Amino acid sequence: MKILVPVKRVIDYNVKPRVKADGTGVDLANVKMSMNPFDEIAVEEAIRLKEKGVATEVVAVSIGVAKAQETLRTALAMGADRAILIQTDDEVEPLGVAKLLAKVQEEEQAGLIVLGKQAIDDDSNQTGQMLAALLNLPQGTFASKVEVEGDKVSVTREVDGGLETVKLSTPAIVTTDLRLNEPRYASLPNIMKAKSKPLATKTPADFGVDIAPRLETVSVAEPAKRSAGVKVADVDELVAKLKSMGVAA
Ligand code: AMP
Repeated sequence: MKILVPVKRVIDYNVKPRVKADGTGVDLANVKMSMNPFDEIAVEEAIRLKEKGVATEVVAVSIGVAKAQETLRTALAMGADRAILIQTDDEVEPLGVAKLLAKVQEEEQAGLIVLGKQAIDDDSNQTGQMLAALLNLPQGTFASKVEVEGDKVSVTREVDGGLETVKLSTPAIVTTDLRLNEPRYASLPNIMKAKSKPLATKTPADFGVDIAPRLETVSVAEPAKRSAGVKVADVDELVAKLKSMGVAA
């Protein structure tokens, strides 16, 4: 079984984003970029399925600027077999990404497509679900466990009340949650090896997909600053303050 893993290049999760002065977006100039953390988990899961002998090939796909090649090389260094970059300087919204991934799937016919549950830059949490709808495939979102049994995949999902397990027929879409696994670090020899693994470059036009935006960003703003706290001398003072604020009876 082939596994397709879409990976997005996003602002590194350790970086505190700076909003552009004109409020049109986040300033990405000279900012460290990395693979979306949920996508690292997706790559790790695909590689583990290959190591178990369940998957035969792991293909990483990214839609984005030329530098998204670095993200794909990271996936290759972790253990993916080959990569596809759909290169564009335009910002692609989740629907555009899902349409492109649907075209890739038509060519690749993967048994499983494992995406992150959300990209930490736009926090959309839409692409996997839209892809499932476009391809008319079953989906198991927010996965904390994935087990392939023949032509079925059992996905344990993190839901509000606890865990839910669903069984899907393959081909299927899975989106990863944080507790699915701990992604490995790529070793230096594997980083070197990844440089010679195949990476194909395409464009949205090659797939005939219109990626024109349908949404307009009205404004982007920093979160409101928290006001400074007050130190209290003892519990009595704390309770008195809470009472005066109407928090405690
Ligand atoms: P989102 O719906 O934007 O929160 O993204 C959910 C998941 O879709 C991500 O974790 C990725 O697996 C995939 N994805 C979103 N955008 C891209 C992109 N530009 N390139 C590759 N994969 C993407």
